[in-house]
Amino acid sequence: MTNCIFCKIVAGQIPSRKVFEDDELLAFHDIAPWAPVHFLIIPKAHVDSLYDTTPEKHEAVLGRMLALAPKLAREQGANNGFRAIVNTGQDGGQEVAHLHLHVIGGPRPWLKG
Ligand code: AMP
Ligand code: ZN
Repeated sequence: MTNCIFCKIVAGQIPSRKVFEDDELLAFHDIAPWAPVHFLIIPKAHVDSLYDTTPEKHEAVLGRMLALAPKLAREQGANNGFRAIVNTGQDGGQEVAHLHLHVIGGPRPWLKG
């Protein structure tokens, strides 16, 4: 996906503040954080949104994204809980069309929510 901002982050063409990386996943701090801890976990392979996943193809990577969230949240200092949000499609308020899991936490009050 040549025009996808998150694919460009995966390719190193746009800088990011990395939280975690392996063969399949990348996590990086959100550029406009809502809370003291706010990072995104994405699959490296482009998929537009959660709508575009199927159990057959994506069960494992979706499971890995969710399973990674509490570990990274704790490492980033969200020790009292967090929100895990996947905005999906237009009515879901998704702005970047590359699947991503928001992990939002840290001491309240937050900017939003
Ligand atoms: P969503 O509305 O769920 O699509 O959220 C997209 C998120 O990506 C927003 O919270 C943005 O602040 C964040 N974002 C957009 N561009 C970048 C970037 N270059 N680096 C880090 N986060 C970004
Ligand atoms: Zn992409």
